[in-house]
Amino acid sequence: MKTSFAFRAIAAAFGLLAFARTASAFTVDADIPAGNIIVNSVDGDVVSVRQDLRDTNHDWFYWAFRVKGAAGRTVWFDFRGRDGKSAAVVGVRGPVVSKDRGKTFAFALDGKAAQDGFTYTFGPDEDETYFYECHPYLRADWDAFLARHGADVKAGRIVLETLCKSRKGADVPRIRVGHVSADPRHRVLLTARHHCSETTASWVVEGFVESFLADDDLGKWLRENVELMVVPFVDYDGAQAGDQGKYRAPHDHNRDYAEFIYPETKAITEWVAGHAGGRLDAFIDVHCPWIRGKYNEFVYTPRKDPKIIPDPELDQRFSELVEKMQKGPLRYRAADDLPFGQAWNKGLNYNQGWSSIIWACNRVKGLRICRTFEVPFANANGAVVTPDGCRAFGGDVVRALREILAQPAKQ
Ligand SMILES: [Zn+2]
Repeated sequence: MKTSFAFRAIAAAFGLLAFARTASAFTVDADIPAGNIIVNSVDGDVVSVRQDLRDTNHDWFYWAFRVKGAAGRTVWFDFRGRDGKSAAVVGVRGPVVSKDRGKTFAFALDGKAAQDGFTYTFGPDEDETYFYECHPYLRADWDAFLARHGADVKAGRIVLETLCKSRKGADVPRIRVGHVSADPRHRVLLTARHHCSETTASWVVEGFVESFLADDDLGKWLRENVELMVVPFVDYDGAQAGDQGKYRAPHDHNRDYAEFIYPETKAITEWVAGHAGGRLDAFIDVHCPWIRGKYNEFVYTPRKDPKIIPDPELDQRFSELVEKMQKGPLRYRAADDLPFGQAWNKGLNYNQGWSSIIWACNRVKGLRICRTFEVPFANANGAVVTPDGCRAFGGDVVRALREILAQPAKQ
């Protein structure tokens, strides 16, 4: 009996050891779409991580990682920079979490995360979880969007084209939509992801494009009058690789419109010069700001120098129209726009080179509206930023744009 008891005790001890070994064997890696993480250390249930800046020469905040084998555990993820100081790189609604390998995402810790970390309890069967600083949006998401509109592609309402080859040799997509068959009355250029980690911009693009396909009065008017030219990923490679994109050395894509070291920026200018004859009615470039605080938790436009924008009064009217006509939940307010010369929006900010908007204001003819929208990552005047909310905002912008385009242009 004694032997048997001792045997059972030893077996139980081994069992515990085996359990302990299994329990500690969770992994943290960046092996997910647009993954980005450096693991500083793992100490029991405390994981110290930091964002991988790659060729970004300022501090920035994009990260994305996967945890495997942590079912049933509660783990503290602590963000610390190379200098050992805590890093405020977690957004105001915490991480965007997927428990189904990227099929669905949610702000699972909204209201419970700190700015430099979060505690996460993995469910008993939750063996693989993705954590992103913001909703990911890659080429596969764009392709899925186009596949949802396969009938429009087939019918020629969306024309799929290639902008150029990226530095890594990939085909960078562009599309034309709306009045694509002959010379349209108006042409509009829409770009996103000049800074590749600014992902919520991509859903605004989807909503913008969908307005051109809708079976309603606006959609019909757009298809009769407007050709929309779209570049969904200006920094194509960075968007797929999970780079920061912002402040790349020696400069990023949106400071490249004087030097053109990136194939995409050069190709955009050539597309406008060639296909559009150097003339556009409107150019809208969608961005995202920082992750928390004023000018990071509402949608706004940083107004450019009134000396260079086509028509400051019309620009103001456009803002008021978007506010008045919006149906989506993101609560844009014209009064939130950032006047030129205030906060970060100064001439100084462009010492590194021209942005796309500054290039267009100086080089493209016919423009009535030429501006960016900054779309936050998580919070928009109290509303939760979601893919659908961003799509709705894209539609809101188009609705206001129609009002502008339908008026005769000033001579
Ligand atoms: Zn940006």
